[in-house]
This record gives sequence, structure tokens and C-alpha cells, in this order.
Amino acid sequence: MIRAYKFLIRPTVGQAQALGEMLRDHCSLYNGALQERRDAYRHVSKTSIKYGQQSAQLKDIRAFDPQRQGRWSFSSQQATLRRLDKAFAAFFRRVKAGRTPGYPRFRGVNRFDTVEFPKDGDGCRWDSTPHDPVTRVRLQGVGHVKINQHRPVAGRVRTVSVKREGNRWYVILTAEQGDCEPLPPTGSVVGIDLGIANFLADSGGGFVPNPRHARAAAAKLEAAQQALSRCKRRSNRREKTIRRIGDLHRKVRRQRLDHAHKAALGLVREHDFIAHEDLKIRNMLAAPAPKPDPDQPGVFLPNGAAAKAGLNRSISDAGWGVFLTILHAKAESAGREVIAVDPRNTSRECPECGHTAKENRPTQEKFHCVACGHRAHADTVGAINVLRAGLARRDARQG
Ligand SMILES: [Zn+2]
Repeated sequence: MIRAYKFLIRPTVGQAQALGEMLRDHCSLYNGALQERRDAYRHVSKTSIKYGQQSAQLKDIRAFDPQRQGRWSFSSQQATLRRLDKAFAAFFRRVKAGRTPGYPRFRGVNRFDTVEFPKDGDGCRWDSTPHDPVTRVRLQGVGHVKINQHRPVAGRVRTVSVKREGNRWYVILTAEQGDCEPLPPTGSVVGIDLGIANFLADSGGGFVPNPRHARAAAAKLEAAQQALSRCKRRSNRREKTIRRIGDLHRKVRRQRLDHAHKAALGLVREHDFIAHEDLKIRNMLAAPAPKPDPDQPGVFLPNGAAAKAGLNRSISDAGWGVFLTILHAKAESAGREVIAVDPRNTSRECPECGHTAKENRPTQEKFHCVACGHRAHADTVGAINVLRAGLARRDARQG
């Protein structure tokens, strides 16, 4: 299955200039090739020039103009010639159908906004600095350009395009999911409960621990943020600390992605059906309750523990979001079913007798039913209830 992704890119001033020149030169190649086809078509012989003939001239064009045409990717230039070829194919198709279409037109340099690279690795390289926390794309003649990668790319990148929209630049990828083959059914269903102590608990009693680096990174981030608050304004140390915080955030992002891929793959391999909590509903429910100051009505107490929990929490939240995106993508390509369920009461309901009470959960980890005495790990109970709700939803849907 092919999926498209669009990311904002952040070129340096020099790179932005090179990108503009890349568009300009591809535009002039397009127009030049169009001119050649027009001239040939107007000639008494009514010659029609094919893509192959124009592509065969590229080598000479590049050698003749090394400062401009010679600077860019051969393949992206071929892609530009192919775009013109498509425009002509559409034109002739309409002529044949008895209509009077407009002849393909020259493009103004401001109307030509896209350069395509038909194959990753040929004139362009997605994720060209894999060991750096910042994702970059390398473009021939431009360099390694930073990317605002706001979501993970699942599968192998096939094509890369660069597009200008107003003052902004974007990269558009198409990626093919690696294991597109549906996996053989296993007959297994599972519910999962996403947590902080453990990354997730499953309804079978299994746990995926939170990666140790996540906690270490949270501690380092916290220390760095405290250091920042102690720095003098506009000092070198402050600059350095800000850079360090950025580095830590990027490191967390990359590790989170790795971990999410592994956890999702494990679930998709083992189960035909996966139910998880709906994070949107869960976040709504989890809005922190402000702590009022008993002595001053309307004033809320600062709560150090809550602030600390907040950072851990925000790291976890982001991790779950990334994980669920990857889980859905992997499940789709493997032919597995994933359902999000309303998490209300999933941690309070007894899976044995159905009794639902806050008292069933004496601590964060323990579940002990006050009605029937059933004991279990609270997260396992949550996962079992999520599974049951998910199966009920599936049955209702198929009903
Ligand atoms: Zn019970």
C-alpha cells in the first residue's frame, strides 16, 4: 500500500536560494522542451517529438550548461520531461476524442512549483543524516535540508518531491509499507492498556516495560529546564542550555519511534484483533484537577509533584500517540483490525463479577474487587475491559 506524507522543510537561507534556482532551471527545461515540441508540430512535416528523444538530449544539455542544468539531478530532470509528456498525451487524447483542448502552455517561473525525484537515493536521500536526531533530506545541488517531521513515516520511501507554497517549502513523500502482505490469522484477540509505569499491559497478563531511556531522558530534561531557569538572560550559558534541551527532545523523539515500532510489530504479529483506549477521550478525562488553596478562595496551590508528573506525562502522551499511529499503519497493511474504545470505567470494573467501583482499585497497581474478592494487576484488568469493550463494538458493527 502506498501512503503519502507531507512535511514542512526548513532550508537555510543559502538552501532556500538553491531551491529557488532548482525550480527556475527545471521550469526553463520544461519550457524549452515544450518549445521544441511546438516548433516540430508547426513544421510542415507535423513531427511529433517523444519523451525518449528529449530525454536523450539531457546529457548534452547538462554538459553545455554545467552551472545551471548540470547542477541538478538527472532523474528529476527526466521527471520534469515526463510531466510535459503527460501534458501532451492528455492533449492528443482529447484531440482524438474530437474535442478542442488548449495546447500545453508555457509555465511562468512562479507557476512552476514542484520538482520530483522518482526514486529515493537517486539525486535525493530521505533521512540523509540517520544518526542525527534531526531528520534531513539531501537534495542534489541543495544539500541536507532540515525537516519538521511531525509524524513517523511507515514503510520504505519511494518518491520524493519538493514543493513551494508561498514562502514555504515542503517535501512530499510516497512510502510503500514494507510488509504489505496480510499476515496469516492467529485466532488471537487482545486488549491493551497504555500506562506510565509500564508502557503497555495486555489482556493476557503481559507487559511491555517503558524503555529505561525514557525515564532517564525525562530526568535529564527536567534538570536542563531547571538549569535554564537559573541562567542569566542573553548569556552564553543560556544559549547552550537551550540547545541542549532541543537535543534532548530530539533524542527522546527518535528513541520513542524505535520503541513504538517494536511494540506495535509484536502486537500485530500475534493478534488478529487489537483494542486500545481512545486517547482523545482519555486525555479529556485526565485533565488535571487544580488544587485550591484552603486559606485563599480562588487561589490555587503550586504543586511541585504535579509539575513533575506533568513532564513525565507529556512524554508518555507523545509516546502513546506515536505508538498508536504506527500500530494502525502496521495493522492496516497486515490485514489486522484495530479498534479504539471509550476508556471510562475500564480501570474500575471487575472482569470476574462486573462490579464497578472506585474502591476496587486501592492503589495505582492493585485491583481488588470489593464484591467478589478478585485480585489482579490493575493494568491487566484495564486491558481485559478494553478488549471486552472492543469486541462488543466490533460485534455491534457487524451486527
Ligand atoms: Zn468482582
